[in-house]
Amino acid sequence: MDDVYGGTNRYFRQVATEFGLKISFVDCSKTKLLEAAITPETKLVWIETPTNPSLKMIDIEACAHTVHKHGDIILVVDNTFMSAYFQWPLSLGADICMYSATKYMNGHSDVVMGLVSLNSESLHNRLRFLQNSLGAVPSPIDCYLCNRGLKTLQVRMEKHFENGMAVAQFLESNPQVEKVIYPGLPSHPQHELAKRQCTGCPGVITFYIKGSLHHAETFLKNLKLFTLAESLGGYESLAELPAIMTHASVPKSDREVLGISDTLIRLSVGLEDKQDLLDDLDQALKAAHPPNASCN
Ligand SMILES: *Cc1c(COP(=O)(O)O)cnc(C)c1O
Repeated sequence: MDDVYGGTNRYFRQVATEFGLKISFVDCSKTKLLEAAITPETKLVWIETPTNPSLKMIDIEACAHTVHKHGDIILVVDNTFMSAYFQWPLSLGADICMYSATKYMNGHSDVVMGLVSLNSESLHNRLRFLQNSLGAVPSPIDCYLCNRGLKTLQVRMEKHFENGMAVAQFLESNPQVEKVIYPGLPSHPQHELAKRQCTGCPGVITFYIKGSLHHAETFLKNLKLFTLAESLGGYESLAELPAIMTHASVPKSDREVLGISDTLIRLSVGLEDKQDLLDDLDQALKAAHPPNASCN
């Protein structure tokens, strides 16, 4: 689909095509567009929900229905943002569920690792064979760390949800904030889908600060508890500016279509004390918008 993780986008555009694969990018939130893009040659459909950083939700069940109507096509869901705790793509009809375990699944920002889960024996055997033949295996220490992280997945995700919700509500009621995007908020355009498809929401929140790039940068510079960094899903709170960090390689015209402006800020809310997080955001927002300065 059109709005995938930057690395996925780069892989499809600049690596897969080298091997002769033909890729089309489609807005899969509209099943009609997805259906129109399927051809007799289509082998695989790759979706991600929610998207990054616009947190658009894709209806997995509707995609699975559309894709499987057209024959033996594999539906892959990148489930990194929701983790295996909040969203179960295989139960909703996906064939492959993929994770960057680097994020919530490991949760401690000390591993770079990926994993896939499947419920088809033949697909499993095929991927096992390829993994063994190609050598894309994680190291024992990474497996150990990830296994350890997984043991606390439930408590971590519940806390990410609790803190995420508190931060989203705080930002939504803040006069220095233009708009907040969080699937857990009733204001999210697909809140009903989120409630149907997921059992909770992780700590990733996107919001637009009022003003310009200058205000966004001043806000980020003044944060004390949130670290300015890419990545997400760890125990520690992070903040970043996608337009000049994670999504800098996305062409400006595409960024505009996706709403990734210079004032869009992405937070990954961690496991710290809730009030400490709100206090930090509050003081940084005030620093970006001092009482006597007018914005815009
Ligand atoms: C980070 C991320 C990836 C890539 O994972 P790495 O472990 O960093 O290679 C893929 N998809 C999504 C949605 C991600 O957030």
